[in-house]
Amino acid sequence: MATERVEVILDTQKCQGYGLCLGADDVFELDAAANIAHLKQRFVDIARKGEFEQLVRDCPAAAISLRVVQE
Ligand code: SF4
Repeated sequence: MATERVEVILDTQKCQGYGLCLGADDVFELDAAANIAHLKQRFVDIARKGEFEQLVRDCPAAAISLRVVQE
């Protein structure tokens, strides 16, 4: 049976380093020198979809998007 996971997509061209995504610091980290977020991991459990949908809404630069993938 296929397992669904959430792919987190970060547009580093849009990111302004506001850091609001760091609530999920297992996934996002901020490069202090460049002031741009980086992904520590691309995929998260489907159970966290709501949490990441909230981050998508909260990012002031609209730099985060999500995609549900089947594995
Ligand atoms: S909240 Fe958005 S703009 Fe701020 S660091 Fe995270 S991805 Fe970048």
